[in-house]
Amino acid sequence: AAKQQQAGTVVYHPGLDSTSEESLTLLSELRYAVDHNQLRLFLQPKVNLRTGQVIGAEALVRWEHPERGLVPPMRFIPFAEQTGFISTLTHWMLEQCAQAAAHLAAEGFPLKLSVNLSTRDLMDQDLPTRMEQLLATQRVPSNTLVLEITESAIMDDPQRALQTLGRLHAMGLRLSIDDFGTGYSSLAYLKRLPVDELKIDKSFVMNMESDLQDAKIVRSTIDLAHNLGLSVVAEGVENAKSWKLLSGLSCDEGQGYFIARPMPAAQFLHWVRHWQP
Ligand code: C2E
Ligand code: CA
Ligand code: CA
Ligand code: CA
Repeated sequence: AAKQQQAGTVVYHPGLDSTSEESLTLLSELRYAVDHNQLRLFLQPKVNLRTGQVIGAEALVRWEHPERGLVPPMRFIPFAEQTGFISTLTHWMLEQCAQAAAHLAAEGFPLKLSVNLSTRDLMDQDLPTRMEQLLATQRVPSNTLVLEITESAIMDDPQRALQTLGRLHAMGLRLSIDDFGTGYSSLAYLKRLPVDELKIDKSFVMNMESDLQDAKIVRSTIDLAHNLGLSVVAEGVENAKSWKLLSGLSCDEGQGYFIARPMPAAQFLHWVRHWQP
């Protein structure tokens, strides 16, 4: 079944046939959600691990459903990708982030906001043009936005991804490889892609203080990134010990529950003002 009632929550299975009645219902629900302000922008801080200074935040979507409460992205992102609805969602996120970045800058915090792109977005030839219009309307410098792309999204159609990403990078947007180390990528693409940043997947970071193998992977990734002239971010920083280990390994930035959980965008400015590393 496409929907499964589980203790008050509904799970949408990504495998669902996009022409089925249930999936048409979900699609119209998602459209309704965008038009009726049910989507929420959440922000999770990214900090400099040496100084503790806030550098920016990752934008994460939530769906505030009137009956089901806060629906996490993994419940609807895969479906949105399958049906192509993701381009509407990505555009909404980019718009919200441009607005939020402009507001933060006006309050004295010119921070970088990272938005997740999916495979579909990379195949969308109109994305660079839409991005240009967006940046012009919101009057935010293009380097305030960071685009997070996974290795698998790039490897889907490397030629085309390279083209789209090249145009976006030429416009001044920063590019980050998300979940680094978990996909089947070719290191050769790191050389050819105009990438600025690597994000070490949380699966390696979360246990690095107890698992020697994970610690070695983290260390090698940091060295690889630095040797290629890239900045490196660790996600999944869950305790003081991993922060210390990471800063000892010269990891540039960190993100994780130890610093802060993702929060509604409206709370972010307050958090930044009161943050003390
Ligand atoms: P991601 O891009 O890898 O995002 C990081 C995820 O790790 C977020 O989950 C975040 O809440 C979680 N996280 C952060 N710090 C910690 C930590 O210290 N420990 C643990 N265990 N988890 C941590 P979230 O918000 O549920 O998002 C899940 C995934 O959904 C994201 O993974 C991303 O792939 C996707 N996603 C979320 N928002 C969007 C969006 O606007 N567009 C697209 N295309 N995908 C999105
Ligand atoms: Ca991400
Ligand atoms: Ca990630
Ligand atoms: Ca992930």
